[in-house]
Amino acid sequence: MSQYDKRDPNTLYPAPPYPEQEQSLPGAAWKMDPQPDHGEQSYVGKERLTGYRGIVTGADSGIGRAAAIALSREGADLVLSYLPDEQEDAEQVRDLLEGEGRRAVLFPGDISDEQYCKDLVQKAVDEFGGLDTLVMVAGRMDSNDDVLTLTTEHFDSTFKTNIYSLFWLTKAAVPHLEPGSTIVTTGSIQASTPSPDKIDYAISKSAVKTFTEAVAQQLAPKGIRVNSVAPGPVWTPLQPGSDDAETVAHFGESSPFGRPGQPAELGAAYVHLVSPESSYQSGSTITIAGGTPAF
Ligand code: NAD
Ligand code: MG
Repeated sequence: MSQYDKRDPNTLYPAPPYPEQEQSLPGAAWKMDPQPDHGEQSYVGKERLTGYRGIVTGADSGIGRAAAIALSREGADLVLSYLPDEQEDAEQVRDLLEGEGRRAVLFPGDISDEQYCKDLVQKAVDEFGGLDTLVMVAGRMDSNDDVLTLTTEHFDSTFKTNIYSLFWLTKAAVPHLEPGSTIVTTGSIQASTPSPDKIDYAISKSAVKTFTEAVAQQLAPKGIRVNSVAPGPVWTPLQPGSDDAETVAHFGESSPFGRPGQPAELGAAYVHLVSPESSYQSGSTITIAGGTPAF
């Protein structure tokens, strides 16, 4: 089965309830039950990105892993960014992509650190002799019911990870990006439909959307396009890493298809936004939320 086979989205993947499970952040894909689908068995490339050279952040697991698999199978060589604690997940991705004949270079580090963001861009330029694709998927989410216990450290960490990193990576990358290059960010439907227990996260994702729209205009004269993917509920380590076991067991149940999305259902959107097939698309956000309304 590939992404091109006609399928009923209602029955395509297992629906909740799932086994109760919790993890500490950043969480690991290999510990999840059921195992998320990142397109390992299904994504079929069509040589849409032959010769592309990119960076994918958060590439070890979840949506970032799905984006990395899809971009790689379309022909892109990639540097994969992730946290050092996620080495096991990252090596699985690297082994898969390199086994298929593409380059997948591991470069762990913390994107809430400006120097690492600079080093990540330099790593890609050194490995590939240039850069044309910056796909930023990494993000931090945690839950907190009470603004009185939401700490400044927590708020800072969310913003450094989800927003400052976009600024730092873009700033480092732009001098290397030639016309036809693209930047893709990852927002959330939380930007327009915030949950009360995700204040800092929702605000940061709203900023991702604004960042995308503003930077797209500034970089248009350089021929660089900037777009965003805004997911709804997707089955990744982010949930067992930040929500309680009962919430995780019923994750995505109230969405119109009665289930969360799987990372594999988002990979193609990143390919589309990187490929010149979307040449007049910039400053836009593709919402992938299984029918849940978002604005
Ligand atoms: P995930 O846990 O698989 O991916 C998030 C990744 O972010 C981690 O793998 C980690 O490598 C990276 N990361 C976090 N903090 C980092 C740091 N300080 N330095 C470097 N890397 C760091 O979960 P996911 O759901 O695939 O998340 C990917 C993106 O999708 C995030 O931006 C998230 O906000 C967004 N998103 C997810 C959902 C969902 O339901 N899963 C919904 C909306 C938006
Ligand atoms: Mg991870």
